[in-house]
Amino acid sequence: MDVTLIERASHFTHAPAMIRAMVDPALLDRALIPYDGLLKRGRVIRGEAASIDGTGVTLADGTQIAGDTIVLATGSSNSAPFKSATGDIEGLRADNAHWNAALRDASRVLIIGAGAVGTELAGEIAHAHPEKKVTLVASDPALFPGFPAKLGASLAAKLAAMGVEVITGARAQTLPGRDRPKGGTVALSNGREIEADLIVPAVGSRAQTSVADALPDVDRAADGRIKVDGYLRPSTLPNVFAAGDVAAAGDAMTIVGISRQKPWLEKTLKSLAAGKRLEEIKPYAPWGEKAPILVPLGPKRGSSFMMVATLGDWVTRMMKGRDLFLTKYNKLLGRA
Ligand SMILES: Cc1cc2nc3c(=O)[nH]c(=O)nc-3n(C[C@H](O)[C@H](O)[C@H](O)COP(=O)(O)OP(=O)(O)OC[C@H]3O[C@@H](n4cnc5c(N)ncnc54)[C@H](O)[C@@H]3O)c2cc1C
Repeated sequence: MDVTLIERASHFTHAPAMIRAMVDPALLDRALIPYDGLLKRGRVIRGEAASIDGTGVTLADGTQIAGDTIVLATGSSNSAPFKSATGDIEGLRADNAHWNAALRDASRVLIIGAGAVGTELAGEIAHAHPEKKVTLVASDPALFPGFPAKLGASLAAKLAAMGVEVITGARAQTLPGRDRPKGGTVALSNGREIEADLIVPAVGSRAQTSVADALPDVDRAADGRIKVDGYLRPSTLPNVFAAGDVAAAGDAMTIVGISRQKPWLEKTLKSLAAGKRLEEIKPYAPWGEKAPILVPLGPKRGSSFMMVATLGDWVTRMMKGRDLFLTKYNKLLGRA
């Protein structure tokens, strides 16, 4: 199979390490991985995809790239220090430096949003800077409400032991921008007002869907991702697929979700190329409640949910906390 990857950035952003990189920018050297070594066969074209149709992709500069099968995987954007919204890797390094400097100067840090990113960031800061006052605000009544209650309870207890104040069941009435570090006072829905030298909005990823705008009969889910059918197809075109954060495939916006979609997609595309009909192929089945999650609170502590069990510091550290999958991803992208 002849594979072409169209990518606007010079480097892959290994997002799981970008949280700790806000505390320790030295990690950027391994968290941002050049695409040069990725494909032994096939090619990477550096460019901005503008639109897709049934025959291929049109780049922003008008170049047409032909393809029999097209996979839309334009992902999502997030707050400035974690991911570039434009593919500008130097800009991402500069954002990391700004946020790291603001963090170093801050005595009081307020993190708004207690999903995996906010919770991990609270743990990283508390681990590296135990002298700073860290407050984590969750809009739900408990942490990680989509998982067995033990996971959220264990993370809340560990954060408290690390000196983090966790406020649950409260929403910030205003959010500062996600681009530039800012301090100030934030009013919460529970009546409290919190003053902080640095406010970090950690309110989730936003799907980047504009490349799909011209596809026929595309529909967006409530969270902004593109709806797909059982075969991960976003439109009436039979040869266009979508996966990852951009696709509402029933999984969360996680690498965990992609780790299930990717093997299915790979097998399906190979079967179709070999002449199999789509009706003979089993549709994609998302993780559902079986999705695992690993939540480190710095390199030593954390809690995880896998299969049916909530696991503690040791498993979380060994599986994720100590290396954040950096070795694995550098190897996968062909970097020595
Ligand atoms: C800080 C942070 C930490 C995370 N940690 C974890 C974790 O520990 N575990 C986990 O499971 N999930 C984690 N996630 C979620 C995970 O990073 C995402 O689910 C995953 O990156 C999505 O992959 P993707 O390929 O769909 O999209 P992305 O990673 O967003 O990649 C999309 C790619 O498409 C490129 N692109 C976009 N538009 C265009 C265009 N028009 N033309 C050309 N190229 C384009 C972008 O440059 C980018 O390289 C984390 C997310 C964040 C923000």
